Amino acid sequence: MELSISDNIKNITKELPQNVSLVAVSKTQPVNYIQTAYDCGQRIFGENKVQEMTTKYEALSQLDIKWHLIGHLQTNKVKYIAHFVDMIHSVDSLKLLLEIDKHARKNDRIINCLLQFHIAEEETKFGLDYKEVVELLESEDYNNSKNVNIVGVMGMATYTEDTNQIRKEFSNLKDIQMRLKEKFFLNKSDFKEISMGMSNDWNIAVECGSTLLRIGSTIFGYRNYV
Ligand SMILES: *Cc1c(COP(=O)(O)O)cnc(C)c1O
Repeated sequence: MELSISDNIKNITKELPQNVSLVAVSKTQPVNYIQTAYDCGQRIFGENKVQEMTTKYEALSQLDIKWHLIGHLQTNKVKYIAHFVDMIHSVDSLKLLLEIDKHARKNDRIINCLLQFHIAEEETKFGLDYKEVVELLESEDYNNSKNVNIVGVMGMATYTEDTNQIRKEFSNLKDIQMRLKEKFFLNKSDFKEISMGMSNDWNIAVECGSTLLRIGSTIFGYRNYV
């Protein structure tokens, strides 16, 4: 029997700890699926493409949805989302962060950002390493930027059946978040987000301390493409 979008969301959220939020990843899915999820209480939606997210935002602009950009973001596209995006999970360079800052300022907004770490074995995934992030956070440019709010870290585990491997990578991200908290954000109570866990590994992510689950196909069904 096929479950509905609302049942799928309920099944995921019913056992989640208080501090864990669900980002419903609606990429490639039609606007009426988003509306259905919204109607059963879902408020955070994740998209990985600027054009698609902007179109959906415009179609649903009367709803109080929090739009999260979860995919790789090119600096020249920041301007299209700066007026409405709630959080950008995929900050992977100082250059991008400064561009977000610039456009947030133009719109008189502060945009929440996560630093994306490369935690997987695969070469192909985007992301920074610890040393690069320390450099970024110590840079004068970052410290002068007032319209970005770094609230945590994001990562994607290796796509594998080996749950020990996944657990190791998620624990590593949790460890990184705690080290950064101690070194740079001790007095910043909103530096607390760890965005990790997708359809195939979200249970492990919760065990390892995730606060933002990015789940698509388990909610909306399979996609034709990524
Ligand atoms: C597509 C996507 C997800 C969700 O993937 P599912 O396996 O469908 O849950 C999560 N994070 C990112 C960055 C994605 O691109």
